[in-house]
Amino acid sequence: MKGYIQVYTGNGKGKTTAAIGLSVRAAGAGLNVFIAQFIKMGDYSEIKSLKKLSDRITIKQFGLGRFIKGKPSEDDIEAAQKGLHAVKSAILSRDYDVVILEEGNVAIAIGLFSANDIIKILNLKPENVEVVITGRNAAPEIMDKADLVTEMKDIKHYFNKGVAARTGIEK
Ligand code: ATP
Ligand code: MG
Repeated sequence: MKGYIQVYTGNGKGKTTAAIGLSVRAAGAGLNVFIAQFIKMGDYSEIKSLKKLSDRITIKQFGLGRFIKGKPSEDDIEAAQKGLHAVKSAILSRDYDVVILEEGNVAIAIGLFSANDIIKILNLKPENVEVVITGRNAAPEIMDKADLVTEMKDIKHYFNKGVAARTGIEK
């Protein structure tokens, strides 16, 4: 099966949950999925669920889990570079049918690596591998390279009424 490059971006809710939904569907079809979560580090509920599908889904975190304000630190960059390396290995390994760069767009936007770093990896992608890149503020070069771009549009969000991320719903 031919694999395509997908991007889920925009300011509305649904980017991460769409990627997780896709990985659950793919696992159900017997496909193998590698998920690299950039920036994040922590006990997100999806990790607990996806661990139950560990025969098909591998999920790894490559962030320090702290809010990066301004210029990222050497440690933040090093963690992201490790993630990039893991993504490249996963894509080239032929062990995975679907490779997801969770918050990959945000990692580019805050300067953990460049759009070109990702594009170089995408250019090496075997024909059958599907790649999904999520996160706000997707770079134009990434959207150009993609075969599918979905923008989650923020019509309204309870966050703006003071509802912080809830376990099981946002985290
Ligand atoms: P989800 O994980 O629910 O699919 P997402 O991946 O689309 O959401 P992100 O951009 O990763 O959303 O942001 C997630 C965090 O930002 C959430 O914890 C949420 O509380 C907060 N947030 C604030 N405003 C919004 C918004 N308009 N849409 C989504 N998340 C928002
Ligand atoms: Mg998200």
